[in-house]
Amino acid sequence: MLVDDCIFCKIIRTEVPCFKVYENDRNLAFMDINPANPGHCLVIPKFHAADLLTIPDDWLAGSVAAVKLVATAVQKALAPHGLNIVQANGPGAAQSVMHFHWHVLPRGEDDGLRLNWGLQPGDMDAIAILAKRIQGFI
Ligand code: AMP
Repeated sequence: MLVDDCIFCKIIRTEVPCFKVYENDRNLAFMDINPANPGHCLVIPKFHAADLLTIPDDWLAGSVAAVKLVATAVQKALAPHGLNIVQANGPGAAQSVMHFHWHVLPRGEDDGLRLNWGLQPGDMDAIAILAKRIQGFI
């Protein structure tokens, strides 16, 4: 089930473009256009649920394997110092898009990134290049 007024549902329906890195029948992964670090990706279920508290268990379970696949590709493509998998629920956790999603967040040594990072638009050409590199390892 998708809804009309959700940016991620629009991306799933290809009404809004994205830098796609992976897709299967139940999940879509694409680059975050406000990357906290280079290679920052999002993995979303093709089902509209706002958050962890409301996503059906089978959709949640299916998304975990997709996160692992994408995280593995990011690690191989970019060899970051580490990877955080972040998942926000509610405004106090800085959730800005109310469609359940995982952040796959490459970490640099001493990058100083804090849990609730601010949204800063990235360089779209650089993001497109990173998307292709990550895709190459899926
Ligand atoms: P959160 O703030 O945890 O809800 O994460 C939502 C993420 O979606 C943010 O990091 C945004 O930068 C990202 N985002 C919002 N709109 C788009 C879009 N059209 N394409 C890619 N990423 C997006």
